[in-house]
Amino acid sequence: MKKISFIGAGNMAEAIIKGLTGAGSYEIRVTNRSNQAKLAQMKEDYGIIPASFMEAVKDSEIILLAVKPKDVGEVLAQAREGMKSNQLLISVAAGIPLVLLEKHLPHCPIIRAMPNTSSAVLHSMTGLVKGQSVTEENQRDVEAIFGAVGKYIWITEEQMNPLIAMSGSGPAYFYLFTEALVKAGVDMGFSQEAAENLAKETLMGAAKMLAQSGKSPGELRVAVTSPKGTTQEALNVFLEKGLEELVAQAAKACKHRAQAME
Ligand code: NAD
Repeated sequence: MKKISFIGAGNMAEAIIKGLTGAGSYEIRVTNRSNQAKLAQMKEDYGIIPASFMEAVKDSEIILLAVKPKDVGEVLAQAREGMKSNQLLISVAAGIPLVLLEKHLPHCPIIRAMPNTSSAVLHSMTGLVKGQSVTEENQRDVEAIFGAVGKYIWITEEQMNPLIAMSGSGPAYFYLFTEALVKAGVDMGFSQEAAENLAKETLMGAAKMLAQSGKSPGELRVAVTSPKGTTQEALNVFLEKGLEELVAQAAKACKHRAQAME
């Protein structure tokens, strides 16, 4: 049974812990600076072991750092003494590069992970970047962890900001489109509730088709678009108004913001 410790018991830690308890075979310790009631709740919900900071750091093969980026420096300075070279550190902190993490813990293998909010429903798309002394076993361990909350992709650190522009912020792009479709439905006479149901179920069904049909988005689009039909009329408006260019610009703006925040 793998021993894993979480430093920080916030939203991201809880989403990953939820996935891991479903996947079995982990002894999970969690430490949190504030809100000890949250640890008691997590003990009840997921069977975690509430731990002090040093217990969490010393007693596990894998340490998952899930504090806000601003707290990373302080946590690693504290952890440094207790961590041994065979312990893997996984950091989910946005905008904290490997070079900085490795400066704090030069003796440990380190992996950066960028999950997204859909990890809460075990459908994250997570980017993984490996540091210098990462072993194959470390890679398998991190794949098992993020495989339990969705899918993952290994990337270079240079691809981290483009990944944030795709999978990190991507869920919000989808929600914005859903909101716009709901508004259009209300404008055409549906109640808010009916429009939300229509939009949500339609987009969820389409997402499932994408996931399960084995077809590309282009193939699926063509399959529902008869020439000169109703769907074609709507798609023409999207394309004439520059949807593709708009999406590209939005993704670039996101990537630049991520760069500026490093
Ligand atoms: P959060 O604020 O919900 O949780 C952070 C937790 O860390 C808090 O419970 C806090 O008490 C605890 N903490 C702070 N300092 C500590 C210390 N010294 N020792 C122990 N615990 C300490 O934040 P979150 O949304 O879970 O985000 C955590 C990290 O995950 C961030 O670095 C963020 O960049 C990253 N991340 C989050 C998401 C997301 O969707 N929420 C996505 C990708 C990456």
